[in-house]
Amino acid sequence: MVTAPVTVREALRGVQERFRAGGIDTPELDARLLLQAATGLRHEDIVMEASRRVTVEALAQLEGMVTRRLKREPVSRILGVRAFWNADFKVTPETLDPRPDSETLVEGVLAHADKAKPLALLDLGTGTGCLLLSLLQELPLAAGLGIDISAGAVETARLNAVTLGLSGRVEFMEKDWKELTPLSLYDVVIGNPPYIALPEIAELAPEVRKYDPITALSGGPDGLDCYREIAALLPRILAKNSLVALEIGAAQAADVKGILGKAGLVVLQTLTDLAGHDRCIIARWTRA
Ligand code: GLN
Repeated sequence: MVTAPVTVREALRGVQERFRAGGIDTPELDARLLLQAATGLRHEDIVMEASRRVTVEALAQLEGMVTRRLKREPVSRILGVRAFWNADFKVTPETLDPRPDSETLVEGVLAHADKAKPLALLDLGTGTGCLLLSLLQELPLAAGLGIDISAGAVETARLNAVTLGLSGRVEFMEKDWKELTPLSLYDVVIGNPPYIALPEIAELAPEVRKYDPITALSGGPDGLDCYREIAALLPRILAKNSLVALEIGAAQAADVKGILGKAGLVVLQTLTDLAGHDRCIIARWTRA
């Protein structure tokens, strides 16, 4: 094994410094995660084995990852995996990178859904499948369908379902929700649709603007296009007393409530994320 004249501690500090100089938001965390991935060391080993020499191969691998991060590629995309709710999800260029903020929707559904019923779930624009699969983990009697216009996303969601041992209770289909001809009615409809208004896309952090698929971000001129499309679809696919949970942008609560209300839904709640921003609307369909 060839080792470089660099210890774990020196490698970590060197990367942290480069990330700080490069304007990366979380230099310590990112440096550690990439060093762990390159060396195979666990979090605790980074401290315990700080004086160990890093191998030449690991150092070369680390360098490749650091170069990518300095171009603002998120750590989750470099590693190809992102932790969400209770699991690790494979992330690919065709999927939105799951955000901790979206766990708000999972919490919201769990607060309102009846765990004892065999609920039928539908996820509109499933991406990695993180929302639907996390809910299926928590609702052992439920089954779900996830749709996405991206074939790559559907493939990724399927792989995530297999990894989590959930493929028996979930199906993923490449489909536009505008073309969804419902075969059955759903008890819970969820979605994190693209909701960034066109003029705001240029202002997003480079990690988002350059690496998340634009089709997963752009919600049209005012960011609300998808909510209008989904509201038009909902009355055709909802079972009586079903639940709808949609992620929203921080300034969209009033508009989305208005859109859902006009479609005949009863808005129950607006949930905030950890930063205190409006993040999810929960509504109920009370008609038959
Ligand atoms: N939450 C993402 C962001 O603000 C956007 C995701 C979306 O449009 N659904 O970066």
